[in-house]
Amino acid sequence: MHKILIEDIEREPNKTLHYEFDDEIEELEGCKLNADLEIKSLGDFIEIKGDVSGVVTLECDRCLNKFDYDLEFDIDETYAKRSLYDEYSQEVELQSGQFITDLNGEKEIDIYDLLYQSVILNLPNKKVCGINCNEGLFVSEEDMVIHDDRMDIFKNIPIQNDK
Ligand SMILES: [Zn+2]
Repeated sequence: MHKILIEDIEREPNKTLHYEFDDEIEELEGCKLNADLEIKSLGDFIEIKGDVSGVVTLECDRCLNKFDYDLEFDIDETYAKRSLYDEYSQEVELQSGQFITDLNGEKEIDIYDLLYQSVILNLPNKKVCGINCNEGLFVSEEDMVIHDDRMDIFKNIPIQNDK
């Protein structure tokens, strides 16, 4: 489940809850994550920060073999308890790279969903199994770490349909 009630965060000392996530993301093939999160209530906002590491199975764009891709990224997410941005989109960019997600009055935060979305945003744009890919083409380090084009990523998410 991995859902956290906002009132539980507020009951903690300093209104800060430590949450350790150690589970699979079932929607993504072979995806296991470990996350150490600090969830803090700041008046009208909830801030979640922490480190995530794990692994996900991807399919190589060149040779089509599956390979394990190591994940390592930071979480820095802010939620608004009340609906502040009704007239705008659900996610409002405050400053470069920082987003506020509107909870729309929800009383809990879905950590599983947060991590699932974060993995998708942190997948590489070009998925190549390694510099020794048996297509034999040279892949620069740069090719393997481009994260820019978010829409492109969504087209290539490996999803398990066999359940
Ligand atoms: Zn390959």
